[in-house]
Amino acid sequence: MKILVLNCGSSSVKYQFIDMDREEVIVKGLVDRIGMEDALFTYARVVDNTEVKSVLHIGNHEEAIRLLIKMMIEGDYRIINDKSEIAAVGHRVVHGGEKFSGAVLVDNRVKEDIYECFDLAPLHNPHNLKGMEICEKLLQGVPQVAVFDTAFHQTMPSDAFFYAIPYYFYEKYKVRRYGFHGSSHQYVAHRAASMMKKKLRSLKVVTCHLGSGASITAIKNGKSVDTSMGFTPLEGLAMGTRCGDIDPAVPLYLMDVDEITLREIKSILNKQSGIYGLSGISSDMRDILKERKRGNKRAKLTVDVFVYRVKKYIGAYASAMNGLDVLVFTAGIGENSSYIRELCCRDMDYLGIEIDRKRNRKAEGVELLISSGKSKVSVFAIPTNEELVIAREANRILQNKKTVFT
Ligand code: ADP
Repeated sequence: MKILVLNCGSSSVKYQFIDMDREEVIVKGLVDRIGMEDALFTYARVVDNTEVKSVLHIGNHEEAIRLLIKMMIEGDYRIINDKSEIAAVGHRVVHGGEKFSGAVLVDNRVKEDIYECFDLAPLHNPHNLKGMEICEKLLQGVPQVAVFDTAFHQTMPSDAFFYAIPYYFYEKYKVRRYGFHGSSHQYVAHRAASMMKKKLRSLKVVTCHLGSGASITAIKNGKSVDTSMGFTPLEGLAMGTRCGDIDPAVPLYLMDVDEITLREIKSILNKQSGIYGLSGISSDMRDILKERKRGNKRAKLTVDVFVYRVKKYIGAYASAMNGLDVLVFTAGIGENSSYIRELCCRDMDYLGIEIDRKRNRKAEGVELLISSGKSKVSVFAIPTNEELVIAREANRILQNKKTVFT
């Protein structure tokens, strides 16, 4: 059985086509700059390591998906003979609000519910829904499954998800913590438990998804009990361009003293802050680490702030769970930077965290236990695989099974 996974953004469509019998990617790629004259279509056939890249005009998402399906079925780079070989399409949906605590088969009711979450994720949900409507048209009869970034965190208790603002705003506008990156946190936590040959439900786990967007999750009894992103992905860690935790009075103050508009402040907090804003260099941690090595003080400050927040959350979540058995690092920075992992684990012996520096340095884009034999907490670097989670969920829905992970 083969499943197409789609992640439709405002001007891009990321995709993977996965053979679920072997859980192997057949083809993957990205259509970027949709709507522009110089849109970029990337199509990488994994089996024989061939990659096609073309720059062409792609007017909208429908043209992008149509082109992808055509490539899959026709011409030199085809990988199937007919649309009927696509057993299902799994869609990444950013926000499921309080309505979705798991993946669902897409029908009109589900689409209406996703539409109702537009206000909660105006930059993402409309495009996610558009992807479903396009597939309904182009792949008639192929089941579609929606997998939500927020779903895994729907198990959070009310003390973790409530903000201390008038209750009315929760009732009227559903203002609360939702959390994101759910598929990633869920995946790496299960991988860690499986590497330890233990059941996830017997472990207290903190997962650190450190990419351009970054979040940390506390997982107890196999369930998310707290996470650092909130009502939007702006809360929590310092990220590529997002500020993360901040006194809510700061934007109000800046709007007042500098006559900054609401639109500008949104852009400052989301696009001009975090690693980029603090360093004044780049939003890419690799650039910051290079500059830090050269003695750049602001690069050092940026790394220090980034790491400090990670450590603070690890401590907070160990406290929330009354203990910690497993710590996992994932996503671009977490998977690849042994240096950042080392800093995040430094002076954490009060929690029983001790990494093996040699092992840590070996873990670059591979699954590895990086803690020392003496460490009470098992520390892992595990590459995330959100697409596989989406494909597994779609498969599960098709098979009508209860659980994906064992
Ligand atoms: P997203 O999917 O949110 O765009 P990724 O998970 O791909 O993000 O992570 C991207 C980030 O990972 C980049 O900002 C880059 O700084 C960081 N990164 C990738 N490789 C390394 C590395 N070897 N060392 C430090 N940071 C890295």
